[in-house]
Formats: sequence, C-alpha cells, structure tokens
Amino acid sequence: MADVVVVGGGVGGMAAALRLGAAGHDVVVLERNDVLGGKLASRSIDGFTFDTGPSLLTLPEVFDDLLAVAGTSLAEVVQPVRLDPICRYHWPDGSAFDHRAGTGPAVAEVERLSPGAGAAFGSYLDHGRRVWEVSRRTFFSGPMESPVDLLRRMRGPSDLWAIDPLRSLDARARAHFDDPRLVQWAGRYATYSGSSPYSAPATLSCIPWIEQSSGAWYVRGGLAGLAGALGGVLAGVGVDVRTASEVEAVRADAGAVRGVRLVGGETLDADVVVANVDATHLYAQLLPDQRALRRVLRAPVSSSGYALLVAVEGRTEGVAHHNIAFSADEAKEFADIFERRTAPEDPTLYVAISAVTDASQAPEGCENWFVLVNVPPAAAVDWDVRADGYRDHLLERLAAHGWDLAGRIRSVEVITPLDIAERYRAWQGSIYGTSSNGRKAAFLRPSNRGPRRGLYLVGGSSHPGGGLPLVAMSGAIVATMVEADFPRGAVEAARR
Ligand SMILES: Cc1cc2nc3c(=O)[nH]c(=O)nc-3n(C[C@H](O)[C@H](O)[C@H](O)COP(=O)(O)OP(=O)(O)OC[C@H]3O[C@@H](n4cnc5c(N)ncnc54)[C@H](O)[C@@H]3O)c2cc1C
Repeated sequence: MADVVVVGGGVGGMAAALRLGAAGHDVVVLERNDVLGGKLASRSIDGFTFDTGPSLLTLPEVFDDLLAVAGTSLAEVVQPVRLDPICRYHWPDGSAFDHRAGTGPAVAEVERLSPGAGAAFGSYLDHGRRVWEVSRRTFFSGPMESPVDLLRRMRGPSDLWAIDPLRSLDARARAHFDDPRLVQWAGRYATYSGSSPYSAPATLSCIPWIEQSSGAWYVRGGLAGLAGALGGVLAGVGVDVRTASEVEAVRADAGAVRGVRLVGGETLDADVVVANVDATHLYAQLLPDQRALRRVLRAPVSSSGYALLVAVEGRTEGVAHHNIAFSADEAKEFADIFERRTAPEDPTLYVAISAVTDASQAPEGCENWFVLVNVPPAAAVDWDVRADGYRDHLLERLAAHGWDLAGRIRSVEVITPLDIAERYRAWQGSIYGTSSNGRKAAFLRPSNRGPRRGLYLVGGSSHPGGGLPLVAMSGAIVATMVEADFPRGAVEAARR
C-alpha cells in the first residue's frame, strides 16, 4: 500500500510528489502518457525540436524552492538561460518594441517606441511589484477554500486594494498608458492565464514585473527537459514513477478515498490520492460526482491554443527568441475568442524560435518556428474541418506581418485544441485549466481539497491556476495540506 498515489505526471503532480516523497512518504505517480511532464512536452521532427507547450519559464525561484527539498537546484538539473530581450513585440503599423531585461534598458526602449511613455512604464512596473509582493504572500501562499482564506492571510484592507482585484487588466493599462500600443502590450499578459484583458483582474499587471525582477528563462535543450529532470529527481527521492499507466477510477467509499484502479484492472490502495488531472476529468470520469462537477464547470475555462510547428530553412532577419505580432484590433480578437467563440481571423501571433538561443534546436542554418494563437475552447470550433484551412490562414497572416516563409518551409505540423484535450485529458483543450476571467474567477477555481477525505487536487485547473510556476506552487500547497492531514509519523504508527 502506498501512502500517496498521484494521478498524472504533469508539473503540478510531480511537484506534489517530490515534496511528499522527500518528506518520507511512499509515493506512486501514475501517468497515462509514455513520458512525464504533461503539457510541458516537446516534439522532434527531422532534426528540429519544438517545445509544444511552455516555451517561457518565469519565477525560476519557485523551482529552486521545490528542488531544494531534494538537495538540488534548477541550475543543477537543467541549464537555464535568462533571455534578453524577453520578447520582441511588433504592431501592424511596422513599429516594434523589445521588452528588455532590466528596467533601465526596458524604459529606454519604451521611450524609443513612444516618447514620453517611459515614466508611465516605470510606474506600471512599480504597481506590478506591489501587486506581486502582496499576492505572493496571500493568494499564492496557501489553499483557497473560500474568500475567507485570502482575507485571513491579509494584513489589512490595504492588502486587498494592493492586489487590484476589482478593475480589469485593460482598465489598469489605460490608467497608465496613452499609447494604445502599450495598452495592447499590457493586456496581452491576460493570455498568460488563458484570459481576456477586459475580464481578467488587474492583479495580472504583476506579470511584467515578475519577468523583469526574476527574469524570463529558456532551458537549454528545450523547456521540456525540465520534465525529464524533475522525473530524475523524483526517482532519486524514491518516488515510484509509472508512465503508460492510465487511471480509470479513483476508488472511494462514502467518506474517504481508498486508492485507484488502472485501465487493465490493477488496483492500488492508498489513503491519499492527489489528482493532477483536470478537475472535470476527475469528477466526470474518475470519481463521478455531479455536485462537484457542477461547481467545477462554474469556473471559467481558459482559452485553448492552435499551434504550428514549422521547420524553416535559412535564418530570418530581425527575429528574437520570443516574438509577438499583434492583431490590428485586440477588442475584436478577444471578442472572437471569449464571446463569439470563433477562431480569430486576425489573431495575435506568438512565434517562439528557440534556435535563436540554442543551435541544438534546428539543423545548421535552420529555424524551429513554434507559432501559437489563442482560440476558444475546443467545442466552439469544428477543428476536424477547420484545422488545415486555419494553418494556411496563419501562414498568410505571418506573411502579412513580414514573415513570408514561402519556399523555406520543410514541414508544418499542426496542434489543435482537440489534440491538447486528447493528449492531456485537458477539458476543452484548455491551455491553463481555469482562466482568470471575471472578478469571482479566483474563488470559483476548484479547491485543492476534494470532497472525500484523502482527495486533493493539484495543477492548472485548481488553485492557484495554470502556468509552470503556479502549478509548482499548487504542488507546495497540496503537499502542506497532506502533511497536515496525514503526518508521516501518524501514518507509520497506524500501519504498525
Ligand atoms: C501550448 C501551450 C503553451 C503554454 N505556454 C506556457 C508558457 O510559456 N509558460 C508557462 O509557464 N506555462 C505555459 N503553458 C501552461 C503550462 O503548460 C501548464 O499550466 C502546466 O504545464 C500544467 O501542469 P499541470 O500540473 O496542471 O498538469 P498537465 O500538464 O495538465 O498534466 C496532467 C497530466 O495528467 C495526465 N493524465 C490525465 N488523465 C490521466 C489519467 N486518467 N491517468 C493518468 N494520467 C492522466 C496527463 O496525461 C498529463 O500528463 C502552456 C500550455 C500549453 C498547452
């Protein structure tokens, strides 16, 4: 009998497993795919390597903190590379701006783009710093079973105002910037949680500050290498990791979980089940619970993504590692995604070319273009019909932005929301699990504590939400809860 079974080997599941394994629990991780990492994945095609999920790592200190429980650090298990520029932004009018690492160079770049706007940019970063300082020690530092949890961790009303939850991100950006390009730049960060700048709270204004203060990072060899590295550290602390092991049911009686059953019939007993799977998958299939499912579906699902993996011959003038080509009309773009629920005709294009930093990612003289656009949840679009047409459309949009790849493309593969849904059992192919859309979103996210004793939820669809550092924080929150509810000493005593 294991102490803890973790269902799903995504980053959140691995983070919880590592903490609990290092604390001395017998932990088994069950992952349905052949590799660990979940959405943190890669694909190799004829010498080209593409990170098919995360391509940007922020808050590396969260991973240092995690790895410290096993006596190691991020820099000891992978080769992190701090990027400068963080990202190159392009507008349809031909103007461009490098978000430089370091506030001095960043402010200078803003001044170049929009003379006189440097001070506003500085004050926006400073606002983000205050938001982050408070939200890190309140929102992110523990579970959120109700708004009371958040209030309890606050020092006073000033903390509530500091996290700026009542305004939208767009309104916050407009309060700082006159130049619509900078409003669009600031609003883009809503998509880091699969959200719209018109609905997500201004709390997300902390992200540019986070990028500035602790850096925007790449991992040499590709970000997905972090998944393999975490797997190695898990094995090192004695966690039993089983890939190609799909769980078909969480076994439970009326009051408590008892373990899991795998596809094929094998059962594992455990007092604690940590579900790293999407909460909808948990409550619809693994442990059917209509009440819990209804509650989960009240949380707004994050946007999905449609991606092209383009193997490009030759080198492209003027591209950075991370590039954004903005849409001409962001209000229309976000309405397409979140209201009209259609794939945008003029989407903002995100292009990551890791070969700019890391020659191992493409054959000599070539580039690996990972092109990602935000699209509505999977069911909104008939991707079986639309996938190829949208691929051609996006290649045309790239050309319209000055990146005409015609004659240079060796191959193109497509990832649709249906693929994301299928590979990771991600509800509606959501990239981040639940979004931050709406003032209540933070409180609607499924709690880290499930409705039966011994059941916990970790990862993007539960608190505190999606993105690599957040799901790692989710792992820390859940490990602390398990330790409190099932202290290692007490578990051993009960067995004797
Ligand atoms: C295209 C894309 C781009 C992204 N870009 C970034 C980025 O640049 N930076 C960033 O920080 N984040 C980014 N993200 C978000 C980030 O990848 C996720 O938030 C994070 O990796 C999710 O981790 P998780 O722990 O929630 O688990 P997931 O990655 O969702 O993993 C869950 C795991 O559970 C497994 N599973 C499901 N059902 C079962 C079952 N029944 N039995 C066993 N196993 C099961 C799945 O196979 C999967 O491995 C991106 C995501 C995508 C898709």
